[in-house]
Amino acid sequence: MQFDGIGPKYARNIMMDVYHPEFRECIAIDARIESISKALGLEFANYNVHEKFYLEVATVAGLEGWEVDRILFNYRDEVLRRFSVGQASPPALSQLAKSDRSIIGHNEDKRHDVMKISDRQRGTLIGLAVGDALGAAVEFMAPGSFEPVTDYRAGGPHGLEPGEWTDDTSMALALADSMGEVGWDLDDQARRYCDWWQEGKYSVNGHCFDIGITVQSALSRFSQNGDAHASGDTAERSSGNGSIMRLAPVPIRYANLLHKEVDELARLAIESSIPTHASPQCLSACRYFAVVLSGLINGHDRDAVLASDWPPIVEIQGPEPFHPAIAEVVSGSFRQKQPPEIQGSGYVVRSLEAALWAFHDAGDFEEAVLRAVNLGDDADTTGAVCGELAGACWGESGIKEKWRNELARMDMIEKALQSVLNQ
Ligand SMILES: [Mg+2]
Repeated sequence: MQFDGIGPKYARNIMMDVYHPEFRECIAIDARIESISKALGLEFANYNVHEKFYLEVATVAGLEGWEVDRILFNYRDEVLRRFSVGQASPPALSQLAKSDRSIIGHNEDKRHDVMKISDRQRGTLIGLAVGDALGAAVEFMAPGSFEPVTDYRAGGPHGLEPGEWTDDTSMALALADSMGEVGWDLDDQARRYCDWWQEGKYSVNGHCFDIGITVQSALSRFSQNGDAHASGDTAERSSGNGSIMRLAPVPIRYANLLHKEVDELARLAIESSIPTHASPQCLSACRYFAVVLSGLINGHDRDAVLASDWPPIVEIQGPEPFHPAIAEVVSGSFRQKQPPEIQGSGYVVRSLEAALWAFHDAGDFEEAVLRAVNLGDDADTTGAVCGELAGACWGESGIKEKWRNELARMDMIEKALQSVLNQ
């Protein structure tokens, strides 16, 4: 539902969240309804109390502040009254949201907490980078062959400093930059991946490193033909995890499509993979992963989102089922297996499965990403993929302060967040 005029002041920072707590059928104006109406400044006597009402609360949240409007509808979608709550700075909104919830009786439902959405959007990208940085030191190492990772450490195949991240984060930053600057344009996305590959842009240390064979071949093709729709390899053997590892900007920006335009969300996720990873497994993985991340960002319960019969997951398979190998993961393979069957492999199916295994029953962000990176092998990417999930679930505030403070080049990550959130 669109509301004209909501958020004009903050439109460029838009993350609109609309929810509609339901007024119980008003057979009579009882004490509860009276207190609600008083708190909201409504005069129910003016309305037909035999009707059901519902209240839409539209919140536009941005960097400069928040704007909150409420519209009272009857069930024929006729606007009975619209009243603006006005603008508020984030702390003020936090109080407002709290009182709202107690007024309308939605006290503990995370979905209705708009402050949390912003936290989870940020957590999705920061979580990716933290997981990447934690795994970087043990990349390519066999599970059990190294001292378990508990914190950032120096070393690894690229000789990084503690807290430095790799290609996973670099490609996500390039994607975010493209989305922020030009909207949705696959050729531009591919050009920015080339800027990273050839010039070290978006890299933590100014050099391109850790680039996979699949990505390099695709970007070589793009350099020659200039067509990102035809640069990614479509062969099943080219099913690396390189497009799920960088996916975060897509659900961060488009999580608001989840309930009303989930097919569009799925389409964008698929397209984001195509410049470098166009195999059926990779496309299915991105389609599934974007919807899961969007569900978590919107505050849906983890178990609900990961259930194979969660309605948005069912809906996106309407036009086309997932690739069978991805369908097996979606149906819950990650709940049944344990290492060594669970592998931190570079193959997209195993990588997605491993990240979900680490995440699905973890107690917090830390437990999830440490489980993921300690699988070794493609540890930074398993960490990044799991970090996206755990960051979307527990938010930036769920990532321990030490890891946020010691993450390298937070300025670059912050810039990407502003870019994708302010579009
Ligand atoms: Mg990497």
